[in-house]
Amino acid sequence: MSDDWRPDTLGVRAGGLRSSFGEHSENLSLTASFVFGSAAEAARKFANAEPGNIYSRFTNPTVAMFQSRLAALEVAEACVATSTGMAAVSTVAFGLLKAGDHIVAARGVFGTVVPLFNQVMAKFGVATTWVDPTDLDAWRGAIRPETKLLFVETPSNPVCEIADIAALAEISRKAGAVLAVDNCMASPALQRPIEFGADLVVHSATKYLDGQGRVLGGAIAGRKDLVEGPLFGFVRTAGPVLSPFNAWVCLKGMETLRLRVNAQSASALALARWLESHPAVERVNYPGLESHPQHALAMRQQSAAGPVLSFVVKGGREAAWRVVDGSKLLSITANFGDTKSTICHPATTTHGRLTAAEREEAGVVDGLLRLAAGLEDVADIQADLERGLGRA
Ligand SMILES: *Cc1c(COP(=O)(O)O)cnc(C)c1O
Repeated sequence: MSDDWRPDTLGVRAGGLRSSFGEHSENLSLTASFVFGSAAEAARKFANAEPGNIYSRFTNPTVAMFQSRLAALEVAEACVATSTGMAAVSTVAFGLLKAGDHIVAARGVFGTVVPLFNQVMAKFGVATTWVDPTDLDAWRGAIRPETKLLFVETPSNPVCEIADIAALAEISRKAGAVLAVDNCMASPALQRPIEFGADLVVHSATKYLDGQGRVLGGAIAGRKDLVEGPLFGFVRTAGPVLSPFNAWVCLKGMETLRLRVNAQSASALALARWLESHPAVERVNYPGLESHPQHALAMRQQSAAGPVLSFVVKGGREAAWRVVDGSKLLSITANFGDTKSTICHPATTTHGRLTAAEREEAGVVDGLLRLAAGLEDVADIQADLERGLGRA
């Protein structure tokens, strides 16, 4: 790998290693353990006196290639892979925090992070304060002497709020805390939080890194002292590792990441513009629109606005469900990041367990729909939405 390769090249080539067979496509090392030539070699490798593979919970060549490629794309010093995106968030929390520590987290992060922090981490004596991601004074006001982690997702899902990563990095540095940014929605194709001062980037590889909805995976990229220290230590010890097969799928997925995400983002922008002028639509949440309250900030942090948008249909839940049920093309599913466009009604699915007041606060109103643009022809997606919107 060359130091001056550009991102398109890194996505295709970074981290690629050849075995002695000389294969062109990266090798899938589907093996639980590795053999040693002698007792002495085994002892040296276990003692870290000699590099090499030992056991796939902590050394696997395919997982290592995935980690190197993602680190290159995120301009990160190091990367550790995990079994899922939630395993990555859990690893950040368990790897960095101890009883008595405090987290400041953005409201509107991925839904499952809320019970992880409020229930699981609380059980171990770690408290969390939730703040509006766009309100920097709220972040500053929530900091305590024991604050060790700031956690944010930008753009947020499903309402596409944008947090100012550079400003949060400064708040975090002053507090002596670690800033972790969930970069699922934009992916490193469009946004590299480390360039704005984030310490760690968290991924659900399930989304755009795989890109075709096949496997679950996760990763944390960022500061070497954290990633190769407590975070790798937690993954090795507690065991939420990425399987070599899933690593291989995501490694190959990353080769087309930038092509896919840029095309999907262009489709999302076209759809957002069309929806914004549609008489059946009340509001569109998309950072690429001039009407988005943080449009300028989004365009400073991201090279494009991303494949995911949400919009509020006039007529509440009934009208929103008509759009979902009128569709013959869009997949009704909670996942996103696929080549197939997906649609979901957050209030009755991903956010169904929240109280009405919590949903209101998160912007998840009854008429809200989330759309993740895939790679179909955008005219077909638009015609499909029109079937339900025309009757709204
Ligand atoms: C899906 C998702 C996660 C969790 O990832 P899993 O792979 O499903 O565990 C975390 N953050 C965001 C933004 C996500 O979309």
